[in-house]
Amino acid sequence: MQKPEWLKARAPMGDNYHDLKKLARSLNLHTVCESAHCPNIGECWNHRTATFMMLGNLCTRRCGFCAVPKGKPEPIDFDEPRRVAEAVAMLDLKFAVITSVNRDDDIVGGARAFAMVIEEIRKQAPECQVEVLVPDFQGSEEAIRIVVDAHPEILNHNTESVPRLYRAVRSGARYERTLRLLEYAKELDSTVVTKSGVMVGLGEEMHELLDVYRDLARVGTDVLTIGQYLRPSKDHLPMTRYYTPEEFASMKEEALRMGFRHVESGPLVRSSYHAHEQADSATVR
Ligand code: SF4
Ligand code: SF4
Repeated sequence: MQKPEWLKARAPMGDNYHDLKKLARSLNLHTVCESAHCPNIGECWNHRTATFMMLGNLCTRRCGFCAVPKGKPEPIDFDEPRRVAEAVAMLDLKFAVITSVNRDDDIVGGARAFAMVIEEIRKQAPECQVEVLVPDFQGSEEAIRIVVDAHPEILNHNTESVPRLYRAVRSGARYERTLRLLEYAKELDSTVVTKSGVMVGLGEEMHELLDVYRDLARVGTDVLTIGQYLRPSKDHLPMTRYYTPEEFASMKEEALRMGFRHVESGPLVRSSYHAHEQADSATVR
């Protein structure tokens, strides 16, 4: 299948982009933006938004779409949150997205590291807003509470796909558990902005996607992101089709009608795309 015109990445540019790139290199940092070759890097870095990956570079899960290496990770490094915050301060970020690999070996430890990074960023870069993109913590209420109690601006947990495809797309995850995580975060603190996202082009039907949006709206999710799945390599799940910009626009309209406060929907949308705008427009007052 030939890549349509609307998916061709724009060349990164701009002063902020170059500053950030130089600093990230000199600090030896790993951003998802660079390691995933994200097509939005020029735009995001120019808005001083970047996504960091914590808790090592080996994941305990094997999602069929994901290029992160799998294996048995090292014990959690609890100094890492401080170093990430130091980098956020040095890079003068206005919006930091912090994510991690899945740590089924130490669920509560992983949650503590998320809480620590939020607290450290508050100390070292008080102007910076923080979004945490968390794993499902196997549904542990204790873990979710630890993260919510640290008061991130946005708590994100991606649905990724429709429940029928979970076994192939997110083996190890459960659709109901994902919905419950988002619902429970709101129960704990109704002012936390909750967010979730899906990739399209994995073999789902439109009616299944709309059911997912409805379920997410029902559990009070504030922000929804919808983007095109692109296969990282031939070892990953095949991409079944490209959605057109018109289909993305119509899904956005439908989702807004369901009650989301903010929806990003488009071929190049990734979970953290335009994150700085979501925090402002979706703030629960
Ligand atoms: Fe980085 Fe996310 Fe922006 Fe991509 S969309 S460049 S991963 S912040
Ligand atoms: Fe990739 Fe996250 Fe799945 Fe791990 S849990 S394989 S990092 S998508």
